[in-house]
Amino acid sequence: MKIKKILIANRGEIAIRVMRSAKEMGIKTVAVYSEADKAAAHVLYADEAVLIGPPPSAQSYLVADKIIEACKLTGADAVHPGYGFLSENAQFAEKIAQAGIIFIGPSVEAIKVMGDKLASKQAVKSFDVPLVPGMDEPISDVEKAKAVAQKIGYPVMIKASAGGGGKGMRIVTDPKDFDEQMTRAVSEARSSFGDEAVFIEKFITSPKHIEVQILGDQHGNIVYLFERECSIQRRNQKVIEEAPSAVLSPEQRKRYGEAAVNVARSCNYYGAGTVEFIADAHLDFYFLEMNTRLQVEHPVTEQISGVDLVKEQIKIAQGEAISFTQEDLQINGHSIEVRVYAEDPENNFLPDTGTLSTYRRPQGAGVRVDDGYEEGMEIPIHYDPMIAKLITHGKDRAEAIERMKRAIFEYKIIGIKTTLPFCEFVLNHPDFIDGSFTTKFVEEHFTPDHVRKEPSEDLERVAAIFAFEQYKAKKERLQYTPAASQKSGWKSRIKRD
Ligand code: ADP
Ligand code: ADP
Ligand code: MG
Repeated sequence: MKIKKILIANRGEIAIRVMRSAKEMGIKTVAVYSEADKAAAHVLYADEAVLIGPPPSAQSYLVADKIIEACKLTGADAVHPGYGFLSENAQFAEKIAQAGIIFIGPSVEAIKVMGDKLASKQAVKSFDVPLVPGMDEPISDVEKAKAVAQKIGYPVMIKASAGGGGKGMRIVTDPKDFDEQMTRAVSEARSSFGDEAVFIEKFITSPKHIEVQILGDQHGNIVYLFERECSIQRRNQKVIEEAPSAVLSPEQRKRYGEAAVNVARSCNYYGAGTVEFIADAHLDFYFLEMNTRLQVEHPVTEQISGVDLVKEQIKIAQGEAISFTQEDLQINGHSIEVRVYAEDPENNFLPDTGTLSTYRRPQGAGVRVDDGYEEGMEIPIHYDPMIAKLITHGKDRAEAIERMKRAIFEYKIIGIKTTLPFCEFVLNHPDFIDGSFTTKFVEEHFTPDHVRKEPSEDLERVAAIFAFEQYKAKKERLQYTPAASQKSGWKSRIKRD
């Protein structure tokens, strides 16, 4: 069945990202929004928009029934959940299907199995996928848990089975801290995820986070679209990602890719999905989890593969077969993404809120900005503090890096602290440049001093922007119109300025 109208059950950059692909496919779009998002960019972009409640997401973006009501009101025949919010909620997917609406994502069964870290380990066990040494069952007895930790060998990680977004994980290096960390892990699992199941796995020291993008259709075809390296993280959450990895050989790439396809096979996966691996110093890899949704960093894969992942998701949801094979896929150049979070890197990456008093995007060759805000808009306190994703593409890694530095130089954001100065620091670091960095990068190399600007430097930047604003205002005063400019020619325009 051809989808005619998609409701996007999300906000910000990802809502707009999905609408762009829908528009290119001639599909109408519906936005939903909370009272905090009345003038949000995703609302302005959509063909229609439905108010679904007060600002807290628990009363708006997370309420399945309100989303279904909005579908009925607008006649939307499909829902795209984006990432976060309801994207990995099996109950939501089930309700959508029961209401006769297409869920643009995998089967309810696959979300259930892969949404739970333990269930997923059990599922992939017999599919030739290496697992992080540890348990594949929940444990609640502290003494028994301690015995398991002893057997695995310290350091270990206590993890919430239902965890996500970098939350619900605790490292234990010294056995004497075990009891306390276990108590904390259980209570955090209960309060954050409503499920107190925890398990223990080996903590891999100085690993790389390497993940593989896969696509499957409803006819049993599964392909991998190569890997993304996502080791630059703060609070176990990614900030800079790239594709392909700077360190994998073609043989290793194939091994990672095929293991990811096996993970997908274990749950008859269809739709877009990501298989996350943790890699040790020898680049031997272990399965961490599978994310059954479009991922934040999907653009780097799109840049190097030429595949529009959202269009593929929509086509797969319509029942179409994937139109290319593994052999058709090739890596074209290199792509990097930096996440622009409204956070203060000088102050432990604490979220910052306020108004984007100046907001000017970078442009030019090989630059892509996926964002959800315009100049003058406010960053609400209620949601994820990500403002934008800045993506560059180059013929090779060196060009992608240089392009990113240039794009960061062009990006003008005033009014809110962002992660951009931090990203600039990373891009210039020798460990990033030679590809040897691990998930410990921030802990090992970064201090707030690295982003603390000399006051004069800041002043210079503000002065330059002020001068530009004046210039812009002057231009506007001259009431320049295209018709007039055609008559007068470009030389006279210069003179009038
Ligand atoms: P990705 O793996 O796509 O990089 P992230 O870990 O950055 O995903 O999470 C994507 C978004 O979803 C973020 O906004 C994050 O805060 C949110 N998120 C993901 N999983 C959860 C979860 N289980 N609970 C709360 N928020 C989550
Ligand atoms: P989430 O669902 O929150 O994304 P993951 O299991 O994917 O949880 O882990 C997130 C990050 O935490 C990883 O990218 C990695 O940096 C770190 N991590 C998780 N498990 C381990 C482990 N066993 N050893 C070392 N680091 C780990
Ligand atoms: Mg993860």
